[in-house]
Amino acid sequence: MEEIVRLKQTMLDVTHELISGCRFCVHIASDSDDRTPVHCVKYSGCAIPVQINTATCLSCQEYKRIGTRPNWPYTASGS
Ligand code: SF4
Repeated sequence: MEEIVRLKQTMLDVTHELISGCRFCVHIASDSDDRTPVHCVKYSGCAIPVQINTATCLSCQEYKRIGTRPNWPYTASGS
């Protein structure tokens, strides 16, 4: 059981590290038990993010296009 908890936390840490520069990422939950910790606006198509799981996020690979994030952390008001 402890192994699973550690594995989930590692997956979340890796995701956080990789996508911290993604311009579509709004928030990443810190709770490793959250099944959809990534809040992303790419798939919502508007300012309100959808929550997705880490596997979907990492397979998207949008995070590789770093350097185009104008307002991190993202807020709905743009501030
Ligand atoms: S799903 Fe894609 S666009 Fe959304 S946060 Fe993850 S890498 Fe970025």
